[in-house]
Amino acid sequence: MASEFDLIARYFTRTAPTGLLGVGDDCALFPVPPGEQVATSTDLLLEGRHFFPDVDPKALGHKALAVNLSDLAAMGARPIGCVLGLALPRLDEPWLAAFAEGFHALAAVHGCPLVGGDTTRSAHDLAISVTVFGAVPANAALRRDGARAGDDIWVSGELGAADVAYRLLDGQYPADSELLAATRGALEWPEPQVPLGLALRGIAHAAIDISDGLLQDLGHILTASRVDAVLHEDRMPAAAALAGLPADALRRAVLGGGDVYQLCFTAPAGRRDAVLAAARTAGARVTRVGGIVAHEPVQEAIQASSVTRAGDSSAIPGAARPRLVVLDATGQPLAQLPAGFDHFPGA
Ligand code: ADP
Ligand code: MG
Repeated sequence: MASEFDLIARYFTRTAPTGLLGVGDDCALFPVPPGEQVATSTDLLLEGRHFFPDVDPKALGHKALAVNLSDLAAMGARPIGCVLGLALPRLDEPWLAAFAEGFHALAAVHGCPLVGGDTTRSAHDLAISVTVFGAVPANAALRRDGARAGDDIWVSGELGAADVAYRLLDGQYPADSELLAATRGALEWPEPQVPLGLALRGIAHAAIDISDGLLQDLGHILTASRVDAVLHEDRMPAAAALAGLPADALRRAVLGGGDVYQLCFTAPAGRRDAVLAAARTAGARVTRVGGIVAHEPVQEAIQASSVTRAGDSSAIPGAARPRLVVLDATGQPLAQLPAGFDHFPGA
C-alpha cells in the first residue's frame, strides 16, 4: 500500500531547475530577480462544481494548472513555479498518474515547475488547489485598472466553444456528438496565453483572462478603470464550430460563456500595429472587438433599457457603475445581455 510520501515521490516530485528548491523540504525556495515583483494567484477546483467527476484525469491535470497560468498571463507575468494541494477521496494510482502527466506536461511547456504542495485524504469529493508564482518587472504588470478612453478592446483566440461543450455535457443541450467533438477541447484543454501576456507588456493598458464570460470579465476592467465600453457583436471571434447554433445560444456562448482562458485587453488605438506584432510573436490570434469610452459621455441617445450595467462597483466607494453597450450588426444596442458565471448569484 503506497503511503502519502510514496505518492508524492512517484507523481509529484520532479527535479527542480537549478537555483530552485522544489518538493521535499518544508518550503520551496525560489529567487526573485532584482527589480521584479512576485505575481501569485490561486484557484480551487471542486468535483461537480468545476469539473465532471468522470473527466479525463490527464485533461484535469492540464486544466488545474492552465487556469492558474492564465491568471499569470493576464498580468503579463512570467511563470516561476507552482504548488498543488490535493484532497483525494480514494487512492487511484492510474488516475493520479494521468493527472500528474497532464499537469507536468503543461508545467514544462510554460517553465512552471511543481515545487511543493499538500496531499490529504478527502471524506467526500475531490478538490484541487493550485497556486502559481510568477515574476514581472516592477510597474509593468497588466492590471485591471489601466484602461483609458480611446483604448481599443481586444480578445485573443476564439469565444464560445467551452460554453457549448459544457452545456452539452451537462445535458442542457440535446446530445450532439459532432458538436461536442468540435468544442470539447476548448473546455478541457484550455491553452493559457502566457506568451501573449508577456508580449503585451508595455503595450496593453489593462488585461484580464476570460474565466466567467467576456461581458462579466470586461466589466471588471471597466469597474476598476472607471470607464465605459462599446462592443460590436459582429466582430466577435466566435468559434467556427458554433456556426449552426440558434442565435440566442450563440450570443450566450460568445458574450457570456465562461471557461475561455483567453485574454481580454485594452490598448491605445495608436498601438494597433504593436498589438498585432505582439500577437504574432506569441503565436496568438487577436481580434479588435470594441472600444473604451469615458465614463460620462456614453451617448445619451442610447436609452437606459438598452444599457446594461456590468461589474460591481460596490467595492469602490463613490464609483459610478460602468456601462457596457453591445451593438448588433445593424448598430443597434442589444436590449438584453447574457449574464456571466457567478458562484453566488444574488448574494
Ligand atoms: P508538511 O508536513 O511540511 O506539510 P508534507 O509531508 O505534507 O510536508 O509534504 C512533504 C513534501 O512534499 C513538501 O515539500 C511538500 O511541498 C511536498 N508535497 C506534498 N504534496 C504535494 C503535491 N500534491 N504536489 C507537490 N508537492 C507536494
Ligand atoms: Mg503537508
